[in-house]
Amino acid sequence: MSAKAAASTPSRKVALVTGAARGIGLAVARRFLREGWRVGLLDIDGPELAKALAAIGEPDRTLALECDVAIGAQVDAAVTELAARFGRIDALVNNAGVAVFKPMLEHTAAEWERVIAVNLTGPFLCTQACAPVMLRHGGGSVVNIASISGLRASMLRVAYGTSKAGVIHLTRQQAAELGNLGIRVNAIAPGPVDTAMAKKVHTPDIRADYHDAIPLNRYGSEDEIANGVWFLCSDEASYVNGQTLAVDGGFDAVGIGLP
Ligand code: NAD
Repeated sequence: MSAKAAASTPSRKVALVTGAARGIGLAVARRFLREGWRVGLLDIDGPELAKALAAIGEPDRTLALECDVAIGAQVDAAVTELAARFGRIDALVNNAGVAVFKPMLEHTAAEWERVIAVNLTGPFLCTQACAPVMLRHGGGSVVNIASISGLRASMLRVAYGTSKAGVIHLTRQQAAELGNLGIRVNAIAPGPVDTAMAKKVHTPDIRADYHDAIPLNRYGSEDEIANGVWFLCSDEASYVNGQTLAVDGGFDAVGIGLP
């Protein structure tokens, strides 16, 4: 459906996007809104979330949910609030994530635990909370945001890469367990996108490595990742389940590793 047609025929469908205050999550939220859906934007950063909602300017079709995806009680409360406001949840995009890039021998246990808690436990908790709401209306779709760092090992990414490899397998587990209930679960493995996260952890050396290792020789955009998420959530992907789609400019296809 074109953006114009979607805007003139609002869908009753509802998406929950985590980590939606900025970056890839905000682009995903905007994509669902362009398709006519209503969207719950969940983020740990309340002020950033308020800025995003003000910029979107769709108060009737959005709900801001301040929440830490790693804390089950907060997730449950946020999902309950979204279901009460809009009556249903059709898609969940587990996008919230954090990155620590440093040598394994310098990584602290606390950093490890936080990366695993947000990136891997978060999608587990959010899916567990949303699935029963999806099932009230016959099912839905979950997309987990993994990373090319979950497909290939490389320097500095011991916790981050391991969490994302976990997300890829979590996707298969969730697909196996939820498919026959009517919920499809897939993942997107983005290549590098120049968000706040990338600005924090991508040194000039990492940027040069990505440039050389990616056949398209560039970073992706937030919207290019959102396009993949939308495809997997839409009916166009109605027989796609348990898969990880790399949206990475060809990085994974070529097989040249990063240092
Ligand atoms: P970002 O840092 O710009 O945005 C992440 C958002 O998640 C922020 O708004 C942040 O406040 C929120 N968040 C962090 N911890 C949270 C928590 N505990 N609970 C709720 N919200 C939380 O990063 P981004 O680049 O847009 O990343 C989005 C996703 O894409 C992440 O899962 C990331 O790992 C993944 N990814 C990013 C890249 C990249 O190069 N940017 C590449 C591959 C994968």
